[in-house]
Amino acid sequence: MRGVVFTGGRELELMEFPDPTPGPDEVVIEMKASGMCGSDLHQYRRAKGGGQATGLPMNPNPTIAGHEPCGVVAAVGPGVTAKEARIGERVMVHHYQGCTQCIHCRSGWQQLCQETQVKVYGNNAHGGHAKYLLVPANTLVPLPDELSFSAGAAIACGTGTAYGALRRMNLSGNDTIAIFGQGPVGLSGTQFAKAMGAKVIALDVNPQRLERAKEFGADEVVNPGSNDPVAAIKELTHGRYADLTLDTSSNPEARLNAIKSTKVWGTMCFVGEGGNVNIDVSPHLLRRQLTLVASWTFSTIGQAECARYVVDRKIDVDKLFTHRWKLEQAEEAYRLFDQQSDGKGVFLM
Ligand SMILES: [Zn+2]
Ligand SMILES: [Zn+2]
Repeated sequence: MRGVVFTGGRELELMEFPDPTPGPDEVVIEMKASGMCGSDLHQYRRAKGGGQATGLPMNPNPTIAGHEPCGVVAAVGPGVTAKEARIGERVMVHHYQGCTQCIHCRSGWQQLCQETQVKVYGNNAHGGHAKYLLVPANTLVPLPDELSFSAGAAIACGTGTAYGALRRMNLSGNDTIAIFGQGPVGLSGTQFAKAMGAKVIALDVNPQRLERAKEFGADEVVNPGSNDPVAAIKELTHGRYADLTLDTSSNPEARLNAIKSTKVWGTMCFVGEGGNVNIDVSPHLLRRQLTLVASWTFSTIGQAECARYVVDRKIDVDKLFTHRWKLEQAEEAYRLFDQQSDGKGVFLM
């Protein structure tokens, strides 16, 4: 089979790999949809021969990209029970593998495992941008019948991440939330926050993305390129600032603006990967009793909960996708995604 490999410096190759066969407790997924997530851009853009910006160690061997895998079970290895996986079952993958036995792994948060070098499928282990994906059976999360494979792919990272962050901040219908960045994660955040009853202020430097944010229910949109976002949020909240703020952009200025536009006693949450922020602790945090939250994706249970929420609340996750690609179009797909001006892309197999 052929798989998409990021080779550094905004280049990629479709490389040949052997079709995988499942070992004990493993399954092979026949991919149906493999989503493109903002954090893939860190790998796509990294310097040739350079390290990663996201704090995960690199795999020195060519590694298939794609950490939003969704498909059907094609083969099961020895020891996999029917409860864990059945041939033909529609599944998403929780794209991490830790030691499986520590408290984090057992609670469904294998990415937080401290006992071993965590595998992140599509990052330091083979991911979903190929015909097949080999994963341990314990990474599977059932895809509800009502959801498309594309929706499952989105929930497997970007959309699930947005949901996880809002749940972590205990967003309610009383809250006004400002969401910095309206890429796939930010736009999902806007969609979910509206479904949860909140008032949403959506921010992005790209007018096209702001237009989409409006279509996804944003009550107000602010372009920090032409408007002071902190002043705009102050005005839109009658001088109080936002109850909650979420940074999906990873931009240092946006992160600081998110902190500055959070109300006294409010909560600011980081989900964007990589980079820095320079915080002046006393004025930005202490004087305002701020809570800072870091939110890294979700657990297997959170992923299943997100899928269920999407079904029950009839949230149109497929609407996030503006581009559907074949694997052979990967170069064009990532070149376009790199511009960060359009919606989400997905490879359909
Ligand atoms: Zn563990
Ligand atoms: Zn992701």
